[in-house]
Amino acid sequence: MKLSKFFAAILLLAVFLAAVIFGNARIYSFGEKFNRVLASVFFTDSVSVEELRMKYISAPFSGNRVKILIVPGHEPNFGGAEYNQLKERDLNLELSQLLAVYLKVDPRFEVIQARDDAGWNSMLTSYFEKNWGSAKKFRDTKRLEMGRLIDVGKVVRISDGVSHSKAPSEVAIRLYAINMWANENDVDVTIHVHLNDYPRRYQKRPGTFSGFSIYIPDSQYSNAKASRAVAESVFSRIAEVTSVSNLPKEDAGIIGDQDLIAVGGQNTSDGVSTLIEYGYIYEPNLQNLEIREITFNSLAKQTSIGLNNFFVGASKVR
Ligand SMILES: [Zn+2]
Repeated sequence: MKLSKFFAAILLLAVFLAAVIFGNARIYSFGEKFNRVLASVFFTDSVSVEELRMKYISAPFSGNRVKILIVPGHEPNFGGAEYNQLKERDLNLELSQLLAVYLKVDPRFEVIQARDDAGWNSMLTSYFEKNWGSAKKFRDTKRLEMGRLIDVGKVVRISDGVSHSKAPSEVAIRLYAINMWANENDVDVTIHVHLNDYPRRYQKRPGTFSGFSIYIPDSQYSNAKASRAVAESVFSRIAEVTSVSNLPKEDAGIIGDQDLIAVGGQNTSDGVSTLIEYGYIYEPNLQNLEIREITFNSLAKQTSIGLNNFFVGASKVR
């Protein structure tokens, strides 16, 4: 009799422990799913200014640095503007590398470069390989969801923005994959580095437009508010060394865009996302190597100061 009571007690304890373990596991997995659901979902902020500043302030104690992903625009070997001998994709890399040098000075930043002289970052290369199918699915699901919200009138389709040349499908999938990777790896700020151009009759001659601009997510996207705040801080610094674009619509300086995948098109980016067009590829100060180095150095420096200012909550700190 005593023995069976003992076994009963053991059984009860085992049931209790199992309930606790499985219960916790379920709560944990629910928590994980819940986080996922919150990620870049319409009408919910996926990132906030306060949260970013808190992360920056607490980085020395938490060891959790602010992750900044620099993406030199276009593929290592193709795409982007070309003007006489100059290739935008190479210039984007030159400028990105200087930007990385400036940002790395701040120990609170963890700087990741999407590509360098050797091509795509190997972390990304293997991610692309393993997740190509998921990236397509991610694109399709997000497209469907956005289309549905537009149909029921909850999201407004913006179709009168600045027109961009459409990325070929493979390039587009890679950009979605970069957004996925950045989301999964808690990247806080993504900066896409580009130089501008526009279609005109004589593509080998300089165009009429000049100046820089910053593209940010459409205001209806989850990462819009914080992206605008970061962009404003960076904008005010770059504007000290170069002029704002004079292309109609782009002359707003900071432009919300619904379609650019780089800044989270179809609401695909959780973190702050910006795409900086640092100038037009045919501008005189980019044609000569030495003058270009000075120009890029100053643009990279101002961008990094602008980012720092955002994180410390200042607007004009040097
Ligand atoms: Zn470009």
